Amino acid sequence: MKDDCIFCKLANGVIPTHKIYEDDEFSVILDANPATKGHALILPKEHAANIYELPDDTVAHAFQLAKKMAAKMSDKLKADGFNIVQNNGETAGQTVFHFHIHLIPRYKEDKQLIGWKPLKLSDEELSEVENMLK
Ligand code: 5GP
Ligand code: ZN
Repeated sequence: MKDDCIFCKLANGVIPTHKIYEDDEFSVILDANPATKGHALILPKEHAANIYELPDDTVAHAFQLAKKMAAKMSDKLKADGFNIVQNNGETAGQTVFHFHIHLIPRYKEDKQLIGWKPLKLSDEELSEVENMLK
């Protein structure tokens, strides 16, 4: 646990919160400022600032849990769709620097915006990026 980390305290029960799931490795809590009804956060009990710092097996378990929670939450809340979002770094929208996965149930009329403005790249530009990354 990191002393000055709010998510360490929430994940480990030091500060009470609305918890919908817990095991040895994770707590899943309701987001205090939800995008939609049921918006929840998967928090590892162990502190890691982001996905790069989290051990590989914990990353794997976190996404397995995301799949399980998405199915359960969609069923119970009668959601029409589901976003799984995970931000790393301030530029990417991360505001709390303890790894977390957003679980966001979606409803036909929720009018939420979760996405990006698509760029138009030429085939040459796409090839340049492909060559940088492969
Ligand atoms: P990020 O922008 O870092 O990906 O997401 C941080 C999320 O944590 C936000 O959706 C925000 O509403 C939520 N959050 C921040 N502080 C608290 C808190 O004290 N309790 C709960 N339950 N959620 C929080
Ligand atoms: Zn922490």
